[in-house]
Amino acid sequence: MQIRFSAFNKTVVAILLLALLCLTVCAQRKSASNNSSVDVLVQGAMDSELQPLLAALEGKKQIQLAAWTFWRGKIGSKTVVVSRTEIGTINAVAATTLAITTFKPKLILNQGTAGAHDPDLKVFDIVIGESTVDFSPYRSTHADAGAGIDQSHRSPIPHRLRLDGKEQVVFKSFPGDQEIIQTALDTPYKRGRILKGIIGSAFEFNREIDRMAWIRKTFGTASEDMESAFAAGTAAGFKIRFLAIRIISNSEFYSPKFEEIAGEYCAAFVVDVIKRLK
Ligand code: SAH
Repeated sequence: MQIRFSAFNKTVVAILLLALLCLTVCAQRKSASNNSSVDVLVQGAMDSELQPLLAALEGKKQIQLAAWTFWRGKIGSKTVVVSRTEIGTINAVAATTLAITTFKPKLILNQGTAGAHDPDLKVFDIVIGESTVDFSPYRSTHADAGAGIDQSHRSPIPHRLRLDGKEQVVFKSFPGDQEIIQTALDTPYKRGRILKGIIGSAFEFNREIDRMAWIRKTFGTASEDMESAFAAGTAAGFKIRFLAIRIISNSEFYSPKFEEIAGEYCAAFVVDVIKRLK
């Protein structure tokens, strides 16, 4: 017997296959999300910034969603998702959005290494983000060809988020959660100081002191990294509590070498912060 596939039949089969694909993807997302919201999403860009968190995560289950890796488990009494965001601004926004829609965290902690903008900061000091700011957007004044580049003629452009789909809200920076700031400030730490400060981010690794001084003068930054302000902006769009915690791993003012071990020290500190959360 010959089976003939009419155009109608082909369409039906295509629709069925599409439905099956949707169901499979939805099932994957659903099993990843486990259907309940987690207490804390804690992020780090690199493996070297995640190890103490992964070691403390009980019953951990690894979940891969597209290009980003997550581990779900418990730290103390809290349900926690550890996220490897990977380096940079695009990764930070994508990993944060994906984590929010999948795991529905009540609180987001973005943590890891940073370079010093404040000349007084020492390697292994920890900055608790009273706010985080994207220091990359600017509008310059006109300059003719050959006139050179002068950052002193640049003015910042704030971010705008249409919260609730109504009026645009202007964010010059993204404030850290007051209660969690206090919890972090109260958490014991022996490898350096803990200070409150403005944490800056951009996809830049600055080593020119004049550039850093200009950013600090313009945005008030204590430190620079490549992710936290972008995770913060995403959290703000979803109205989720957020705090950035960054350890100084390099200072162009006296110690320019990137100290990888700083990532471990910061993550160990953040484990203690999570254990102290109410
Ligand atoms: N050896 C690593 C160094 C990465 S530095 C490598 O090449 O892969 C970039 C990462 O560390 C980013 O995730 C950023 O958030 C952080 N970081 C540390 N110090 C920084 C600095 N001075 N400027 C910008 N990002 C910094």
